Amino acid sequence: MTQDIQKTLEAFFHHQTFRPNQEAIISDVVAGRDVLAVMATGGGKSLCYQLPAMMLEGMTVVISPLIALMKDQVDALSAQGVRVGTLNSTQTYDEKLRVEREISSGSLRILYVSPERAVTPAFFQVLSRCRVALFAVDEAHCISMWGHQFRPEYREIKVLREKFPNVPVIALTATATERVREDIVRELGMKNPREYVGSFNRKNLRYEAYEESIGMVRIQRIVSYVVANPNVSGIIYCFSRASCEEIAERLRRHHILASPYHAGMPTPERNRIQEGFLNNTIRVICATVAFGMGIDKPDVRYVIHAHLPKDLESYYQETGRAGRDGKPSDCILYYSSGDRAKISSMLEREFTDTQRLRIAKGKIADMYSYCTTSGCRRKTLLSYFGEDISPCKNCDICDRSNTKPKKIAAPSGDLSKIVFDAAKDLSGQMTMSSFVSFLLGLDRAHTKSSGLTTHSFYGAAKDYDRAEVMGVVQDLVASKKLFLKGKSVMKLCVAEK
Ligand code: ADP
Ligand code: ZN
Repeated sequence: MTQDIQKTLEAFFHHQTFRPNQEAIISDVVAGRDVLAVMATGGGKSLCYQLPAMMLEGMTVVISPLIALMKDQVDALSAQGVRVGTLNSTQTYDEKLRVEREISSGSLRILYVSPERAVTPAFFQVLSRCRVALFAVDEAHCISMWGHQFRPEYREIKVLREKFPNVPVIALTATATERVREDIVRELGMKNPREYVGSFNRKNLRYEAYEESIGMVRIQRIVSYVVANPNVSGIIYCFSRASCEEIAERLRRHHILASPYHAGMPTPERNRIQEGFLNNTIRVICATVAFGMGIDKPDVRYVIHAHLPKDLESYYQETGRAGRDGKPSDCILYYSSGDRAKISSMLEREFTDTQRLRIAKGKIADMYSYCTTSGCRRKTLLSYFGEDISPCKNCDICDRSNTKPKKIAAPSGDLSKIVFDAAKDLSGQMTMSSFVSFLLGLDRAHTKSSGLTTHSFYGAAKDYDRAEVMGVVQDLVASKKLFLKGKSVMKLCVAEK
């Protein structure tokens, strides 16, 4: 069988070797086992069901949520001479009828179908008229509420399994935490599945995150970075359409070939920008999250987030668009506690379901802890996906701990004790940033006007630098010993036990 698999790889897909895990996954699928495959984006998931489809007797049914990606795959496979069809909501009645006839006559190798369509009785009928070799469930994390793209219709896919109990299932996803993996296996009714989890570690990506609450300063820092790295391609993810436009405009003033990209732009315009990005007539895209799906540009040298993303899954996926060619690339993130509040209130409008809101808020909390961590970023990010690595030496935090010897603790005791004791004393009186200034003994307006310059903790951390003090405050917030309270002005408070 191994030989047949290798032959098929060369003959149909024109590759010589397999990517990590592909061969083992394909062998299991061809042998009729249920498989859960977790592979990073670009890892080559499609081959894991397309290759078996060429070897197995009968038709492989691929359930895929994204019509655009479905179309790309169908076009690519047809060009290779594979008999492939699709059933989705964009088709006319006649087109559907034609595809259904092809299915019944047993002439299709692969059928792509949307999840909505896959679970209709009409579809079961169609399938019962042919031999089904395999079900492939793409983007399988959509089945789980704990995933970041839950789609209720995915829950229905189980019915297919019940109707066709002898057809093996392969579930594929690029992002899945332990919990999501368990959900996938259970919700699809997978039988004794083999699980393959590839590494999520993208060693050539460098991770950095900086707190920057002043919008204008944030934009200036982004502009400086881009100007200092000219003639390479990059993506800047922005929170709103307006900020896409604004950042692009500022970059253009510096003669950078930048363009906004967001859902408010007409499709032809968006296609033109994508084309331009691929052939380097546009260098920098300032985009809302709408950009990047299905874009396979190998030489994106940086991905900058001008705003806190809503979860680590999205962050991982978006930064994953950098450095596909394996060359060093930067992933830089700017955030503030204000960003977090903004996303929270957005989610409160989006989710009426309390359970889903709670999960979503938990995800922002995890995202925020990534930002405020004092440990290696890569380690923090990967541990979220259940992978354990050593600190990476290629992130802002590892750099800091490598280049700067640790300061000897001030005579008055260790920094986090100072910070916590001072916070207890001043709970609810100031914002995080004024609190840090206060500890550093900076004579700011707020401190002066409230007469706090005579307070016993004023200047208690003057032997440290701002970043260190801020880091400790953020750690205490992340570990829930301190929290921020208030609507517009977030005051630092001590958490009640
Ligand atoms: P994913 O769905 O995991 O993001 P794809 O299936 O789209 O990834 O594959 C990403 C790219 O890798 C595609 O261009 C594909 O042709 C290529 N690829 C997949 N498997 C191999 C292989 N064994 N050898 C070389 N290229 C491969
Ligand atoms: Zn690191």
